Amino acid sequence: MSTDQPGTATPSPFAARSTVEQVEEGVALAPKFDSDGLIPCVTTDATSGEVLMLGYMNREALQLTIATGEAHYWSRSRQCLWRKGAVSGLTQEIVDMRIDDDQDAVWLRVQVAGGGASCHVGYRSCFYRTVELRGRSGEPARLTFTETSRTFDPKLVYGDAPNPTQL
Ligand SMILES: [Zn+2]
Repeated sequence: MSTDQPGTATPSPFAARSTVEQVEEGVALAPKFDSDGLIPCVTTDATSGEVLMLGYMNREALQLTIATGEAHYWSRSRQCLWRKGAVSGLTQEIVDMRIDDDQDAVWLRVQVAGGGASCHVGYRSCFYRTVELRGRSGEPARLTFTETSRTFDPKLVYGDAPNPTQL
């Protein structure tokens, strides 16, 4: 990384991964990023426990999340660093941040600002549909909505910004 990128002015908060014991039992954060330089992050509502979204962080997003106490992600569809809520105002304030056993997955427990929604489609959780289990019938699996109405109208919040959902 060059020094003119944001987030690199502060020293890295990450330790090198030297032994399995250190990674599993140690007290230093030594995250493992995948071949794309990303680590997955599951984000839940700190109060209800509901899963809100699954995102990805690069080094800088993880570093900024730790430094600011606000969730930052790497947008794979837009290929850019993304401060959650920068456009919508629906920021995620971190109540608790966890790393898993082998330190290749992050769990954020957050308090969502504003209307409490986390999904760009307008729902509270990105997981607003249930997949019906159909057995082995071979029929197409159907989705049913678990949230019956949107928390906000994406058109009003995002205007003409391109939809991050890609086909
Ligand atoms: Zn979503």
